[in-house]
Amino acid sequence: MSNDDWTQRSLAHVWQPCTQMQDHAGADPELPLIPVRRAEGAWLEDFDGRRYLDAVSSWWTNIFGHRHPHIVEQLRQQLDTLDHVMLGGFTHAPVVELSERLVQLAPPGLTRCFYADNGSSAVEVALKMSFHYWHNAGQPRKRRFITLTNSYHGETLGALAVGGPSIYRDTYAPLLLQPIHVPSPDCYERTPGQSWEDHTRQSFVHMEHALAEHAGEVCAVILEPLVQCAGGMRMYHPLYLRLLREACNRHGVHLIADEIAVGFGRTGRMWACDWAPPNPRDDDAQPGITPDFLCLSKGLTGGTLPLAVTLTREAIYQAFYADYRAGKAFLHSHSYTGNPLACRAALATLDLFETEKPLATNRLLADLMWRQTADIRAHPHVAEVRQQGMILAIELARNVRSREPYPAAERRGLRVYRHALNGRPDFAAVLRPLGNVIYFMPPYVITPREIEQLCKLALDAIHQATRD
Ligand code: PMP
Repeated sequence: MSNDDWTQRSLAHVWQPCTQMQDHAGADPELPLIPVRRAEGAWLEDFDGRRYLDAVSSWWTNIFGHRHPHIVEQLRQQLDTLDHVMLGGFTHAPVVELSERLVQLAPPGLTRCFYADNGSSAVEVALKMSFHYWHNAGQPRKRRFITLTNSYHGETLGALAVGGPSIYRDTYAPLLLQPIHVPSPDCYERTPGQSWEDHTRQSFVHMEHALAEHAGEVCAVILEPLVQCAGGMRMYHPLYLRLLREACNRHGVHLIADEIAVGFGRTGRMWACDWAPPNPRDDDAQPGITPDFLCLSKGLTGGTLPLAVTLTREAIYQAFYADYRAGKAFLHSHSYTGNPLACRAALATLDLFETEKPLATNRLLADLMWRQTADIRAHPHVAEVRQQGMILAIELARNVRSREPYPAAERRGLRVYRHALNGRPDFAAVLRPLGNVIYFMPPYVITPREIEQLCKLALDAIHQATRD
């Protein structure tokens, strides 16, 4: 069976996510469908034997590369003992061990783990738990959420409602909760010459106003710490996290940190929340903040199986803990909540943080990505290259001085994607874009040589995609 055979069979019945299916149709499709036969490390291989560097870690999940031997071995062993049991009324070793380890690793004070099986559901859990906490605490007026413009938290109706980009959201607007939107601190929008820190501090004024005005009706603020990933890898200064933590405390509002994309070392520290600078007014202040809810998924299982978790504080857990007749329990469940195989994959992934020390190697790889993109930064249609750890984003623009973007209909990002897939004879890569933004979010097992080749290929592809 060749690529063509699988493509035709797939097109007959499979409906791809987040896709206009017509893009895959025809002899020269806009968006080529790639049937993948196998994967190993940072590489995917199709049915015709072509290999592609998975430069976006398969939607940011596959942090230690495909089929990492340790994860594979641990999963094999787990299959020999327990595949699945419902978590309602039952518990098992993988979920207990994983919860213990997550509590050890997470920002201090997060002691309770509630499981789901995808990122959107972890966000739903946080939203419902926050609302329900205030309900149990005798504050039923608190029923709204504050969110940043351009944020993304998933596709289910609650998660979609607190997301920003209209492309995902507008059609469903009549179905959605009405959150309070606060302008994002996105530093791409800073005035020329302004520092990231200044721009971020200035943007916080909007959040402060929203909290002052609405705290009485607001359950929680939700945000993606440091990087708004699906919104085009837009970034801001970690000062925002410190200011927000303090303001939420002052106004009696929860803080939900959605680290589904940025957790597990992606930004250079284990959690993006760890980057928050210490409070300068506090003598023994520590860097980092603890949110009231921390949502994790994607990298949690190293990209092998679906799993998500929402961690929260003891005080929040206790607000639900009562005699059954008080009606305070959190009656939320998913069939595969805490699936033993997925938990085992997560435990194996956490082992790799100890044995492979990725945070130290990633510093070197991230430096190399920056150095190797010097020519891309100088390209006449690259308005900005920005980086936070193992995320490097390239913003294409029609006019880099005025920052006039390419019209979405020109699909320039997609052109880069196609060129990178065709690649050079010995090197092709997956650079699935976000509109006019091309980004690298590679598995941590990428080699320096592969980074060099990827940067050359991206430059080539950008050049071809912006020639006319
Ligand atoms: N939150 C963030 C920050 C995400 O990046 C994503 C996925 N891109 C989600 C939530 C939703 O996760 P899932 O696709 O697993 O539902």
